[in-house]
Amino acid sequence: MTRKPIVHGTITARFNHKCCCTPCREAGNRYTKERRAYHAARLKAGLANVIHGELMTYREYGCRCRLCKTANAVASAEYRAKKREERWSKMVEEQWSAPSRG
Ligand SMILES: [Zn+2]
Ligand SMILES: [Zn+2]
Repeated sequence: MTRKPIVHGTITARFNHKCCCTPCREAGNRYTKERRAYHAARLKAGLANVIHGELMTYREYGCRCRLCKTANAVASAEYRAKKREERWSKMVEEQWSAPSRG
């Protein structure tokens, strides 16, 4: 097996290798920021072909129209509900998995 060495501080290391070291995280953040700025500029210039009411439009293009804001609100509510459910099921699991069973 040949493994390519990871070059840290690059977006390849950050996104392809999912590296979480500081230089890689910084590279990833910079890339995301630049990409968003680029998208936002295109949106402002009327060059972006976006669908309003999509979470991606809110996040990537930074559109804050009513439709996109609603999409974001729905998504974060769903996310919170999911987290709550996870917590609940974990609690129930812990309560019901008695160590002396079986
Ligand atoms: Zn790294
Ligand atoms: Zn929008």
